[in-house]
Amino acid sequence: MADPTSPADAAAPITPPGSRVFPGKPALPDAVRQAIWELYAEIDATIAAISPRCDASGKCCRFEEVGHVLFLSSFEAEILLEQAPPYSQPVDSGNCPFQKRKLCTAREPRPLGCRIYYCDPTYQETSNDLTEMAIQRLKSLAQAHGLDWEYAPLHYFLNQAERAGIPLAEADHPSPSGRTSLPLLPD
Ligand code: SF4
Repeated sequence: MADPTSPADAAAPITPPGSRVFPGKPALPDAVRQAIWELYAEIDATIAAISPRCDASGKCCRFEEVGHVLFLSSFEAEILLEQAPPYSQPVDSGNCPFQKRKLCTAREPRPLGCRIYYCDPTYQETSNDLTEMAIQRLKSLAQAHGLDWEYAPLHYFLNQAERAGIPLAEADHPSPSGRTSLPLLPD
């Protein structure tokens, strides 16, 4: 999960910053968004220095197969969904819809769990420490900005997302590239 080579690194945001991804929730404040991107960069640099082993099997994104759950905050989910490609709802808990042919198609905005997790057995304690540190940083951000703290499995957030900014032409039909998209929601 942490080191897939993505063909979509330079993907432009599909949902512009400032628009709502989740019905009934305010958009993430810019200061929080900026702080999270800085946290992502910090974590990426730390892990690059540690260089845990990755076999590039892609198994870590097939949750049911490896028996784990990707948890993330609503803040990370919002950033993820602003840039991630369209996907079909409902999403089940078994797989990440952004993994295509063992590659992550949402690599730039992927959440902390995807950045930190490696199956390298010699790295597990470090992984736990980094995760704990990162969650505390997110919680502090939430507290400092008076935001609700919500932490849940990936499919929970993906199934709540609305179609803000997703082109209507892609709504019910696979795109020419074969990607599926979010279903239409009633107005
Ligand atoms: S966003 Fe999905 S495909 Fe990408 S690294 Fe995370 S779990 Fe894997």
